[in-house]
Amino acid sequence: MSTKSFFNIGIAGAGLLGRLMAWRLSEKGHQVTLFESGRLEKPVGACHTAAGMISPLSELFHCPLPIYQLGMQSLQHWPSWVSQLEQTTGTNVDYREKGSILIAHPQDRNELLQFQQELNAKLGPENRDQLQWLDNSALRNLEPELDRFDQGLYLSSEADIDNRKLLLALLKALKQNKIEIRENTSVDCTPETIQTKSGSEHFDLVIDTRGLGAKQQISGLRGVRGEVMVVETPEVELNRPVRLLHPRYQLYAVPRANNQAVIGATEIESEDRSPISLRSTMELSSALYSIHPAFAEARVIETRVNCRPATMDNLPVVESEPGLIRINGLFRHGYLLAPALVIQAEAEISRLTQTTEQVT
Ligand SMILES: Cc1cc2nc3c(=O)[nH]c(=O)nc-3n(C[C@H](O)[C@H](O)[C@H](O)COP(=O)(O)OP(=O)(O)OC[C@H]3O[C@@H](n4cnc5c(N)ncnc54)[C@H](O)[C@@H]3O)c2cc1C
Repeated sequence: MSTKSFFNIGIAGAGLLGRLMAWRLSEKGHQVTLFESGRLEKPVGACHTAAGMISPLSELFHCPLPIYQLGMQSLQHWPSWVSQLEQTTGTNVDYREKGSILIAHPQDRNELLQFQQELNAKLGPENRDQLQWLDNSALRNLEPELDRFDQGLYLSSEADIDNRKLLLALLKALKQNKIEIRENTSVDCTPETIQTKSGSEHFDLVIDTRGLGAKQQISGLRGVRGEVMVVETPEVELNRPVRLLHPRYQLYAVPRANNQAVIGATEIESEDRSPISLRSTMELSSALYSIHPAFAEARVIETRVNCRPATMDNLPVVESEPGLIRINGLFRHGYLLAPALVIQAEAEISRLTQTTEQVT
């Protein structure tokens, strides 16, 4: 291990975690080299496919409490990180703190009640004000386009971000910070060493953020296929992410600039990244149409497919050994969890630098 207070750090994988880590560490004065098997302008990782929701409450329905707790921590960091990033790069990443809305058709009212009961039980009495029951008029006040629904739930603390704008802003910041970027370079990671096809490079510390690319190194890591569509219509204006609760389908619509919305997402136990299936297209489209008939005339401008990197228990892993930190398994929670996990890794790095300073 080096005896410096600023490390020479190699990061493998320039997805969401790799970019965030590289940005934060370069801001703190560490010397960073970032390796990516693809290209940074055109990311291929799950980060590029995602819908960018930062939704600890919605996720708590299916997930254990730590996902919610880490998500709430992340929500404390996103605003200042985004504002620093936007100021230094002169870009806008459309971070929005407008909460999200859950709706159900009248015959599925039980889905909403069940969601509310489950969350209330998990959150405990002190946090119950995070869920707000909406009648038709309260719903209309927040989302006029949802006036055909009698009831809904409002999760006011949730946020979302335009993931693609964020990834480009981070790239711009990395270039401004003059970090060394190696694109089209597939690598392997061991403590203090990154191996490329042309040889080994030594670092004080290696950080492995390769997502599914680290499958051989993270026990039980698997890909979970997710399919989304991007639609465009000026006819339906939503102000925040909307989720439709349904006994059979999962659907969300995340409004984006220029009358676009990201519609998703399937969750299929498969590592197949081939194009979206006809069945998924039909299910997403018909569920979307059931929210508002004007979606019938929306144009499908893009479909995206990717695999979420997930562990066997769907919880993230932060593993540390001398000279190597691995962060992985962010599953469907990359944007939700990344800041909290980056902060954990930073604490570990500052512990390491202090230890080496004491050694000198
Ligand atoms: C359809 C879908 C919707 C989603 N929606 C949301 C959402 O709304 N909110 C949310 O919080 N999360 C969402 N996610 C999850 C989120 O996208 C992931 O959790 C997140 O992208 C994981 O980040 P990561 O940096 O660990 O991995 P990735 O984003 O996959 O990045 C890994 C990077 O490592 C690179 N790499 C791989 N192997 C190598 C190698 N050998 N050498 C060099 N580089 C390598 C890859 O090319 C890639 O750039 C969604 C995911 C999908 C698929």
